[in-house]
Amino acid sequence: RVRVVIVGAGMAGVQTAVALREQGFPGSVTLIGAEPHQPYDRPPLSKAVLLGKAESSAFGVDFETLGVQLRLGLEATGVRPASRELDTAEGAVPYDVLVLATGAEPVRLPGAEGVPGVHLLRTLDDAERLRPVLARQHDIVVVGAGWIGAEFATAAREAGCSVTVVEAADRPLVGVLPAEVAAPMTAWYADSGASLRTHARVERVEPGAVVLDDGSRLPAGAVVVGIGARPATSWLAGSGIELGAHREVVADDHLRTSLPDVYAVGDCASFPSGRYGERLLVHHWDNALQGPRTVAANIVGETPAPYDPVPYFWSEQFGRFVQYAGHHGAADALLWRGDPAGPSWSVCWLREGRLVAVLAVGRPRDLAQGRRLIESGTRMDPALLTDPSRPLKTA
Ligand code: FAD
Repeated sequence: RVRVVIVGAGMAGVQTAVALREQGFPGSVTLIGAEPHQPYDRPPLSKAVLLGKAESSAFGVDFETLGVQLRLGLEATGVRPASRELDTAEGAVPYDVLVLATGAEPVRLPGAEGVPGVHLLRTLDDAERLRPVLARQHDIVVVGAGWIGAEFATAAREAGCSVTVVEAADRPLVGVLPAEVAAPMTAWYADSGASLRTHARVERVEPGAVVLDDGSRLPAGAVVVGIGARPATSWLAGSGIELGAHREVVADDHLRTSLPDVYAVGDCASFPSGRYGERLLVHHWDNALQGPRTVAANIVGETPAPYDPVPYFWSEQFGRFVQYAGHHGAADALLWRGDPAGPSWSVCWLREGRLVAVLAVGRPRDLAQGRRLIESGTRMDPALLTDPSRPLKTA
């Protein structure tokens, strides 16, 4: 019996186990996860779970019925490919096929570690620690105006906290969206009653305060750090598995790593996108849902099509539903649909007349239609495209 061992019991790991059984894999499946909790979904952590509107976000998967052995609260500390063994605190775990699905871990703020009242938001434990902080309606300083920072600020405002978001760059979502698209989002912070301070570098964090490099001192009953996430791959050092520029596992277009019978999927891995002509490292939920099907198909011995998704994600912030599909890295035109000062609008990116990415704020239909148009590589008419009253699919 072939033994598949999956490391990481987040979305990508769990979906790999599910997809293996769906695709009829008859061998043994072991899912190893460092966290002690029943495997759970992360997006609700910065939304319903944080606000106490949902107790848990555990996946509705019956591992026993699926014949998946769960080993929770167990961290893999190394891989020895020559003997096909994984090292853990409970001894060696042998495998025939290994799937790396260890996700990402938040980047820490230098010097802030160990300071009382400083939080990250990645795990259920983090969210549970933050819930009473919201309930106490502290003054909260959020470091970083990225997706997580914005979602946390939204929840904290809803809970009645006073919120200051400090961002080193000149705008939110720097590195993710171009300046002209991020510009209208700046106003969302103020509209919700949060204060956004750009060009604000944290000099140090003290108990009860964040000190900026211009000398200003922000009182902080709690500090939430949201400055990005990195692939959780330090445990692979010395294994011979190739890592990339962001310390991610380098996978091929079938999500195979540089070692035979070792796959990588989800937030921990990058893959070459044929569609976009570059390597993508995607830190979003949909990638952790789709990738596992390709991994499972390889393992059951099929020859899957290359993994080449149109990346997709959503974010809920300041009362708005923000969705993005595609990848605008190599776009040559940016077109607006609707008024960015209004409640709903979209942005389309074209390359040589074809849609390559769409950002939709409160326009889920644009997103759904845009995603299909990106997939099919349909040529668009820019003059029609910018008319928000017209469906995107006929534009
Ligand atoms: P993870 O979810 O990180 O799971 C990896 C698991 O592996 C972890 O449980 C970890 O403990 C475990 N692990 C790590 N190292 C080891 C080891 N050595 N041994 C054993 N186990 C190990 N995406 C969206 O598209 N939309 C959203 O609205 C959205 N909201 C989010 C909100 C929050 C608060 C967070 C943190 C993320 C959000 N995301 C969202 C991103 C999305 O949740 C991730 O892309 C997704 O969880 C990736 O799944 P994964 O399984 O690859 O990694």
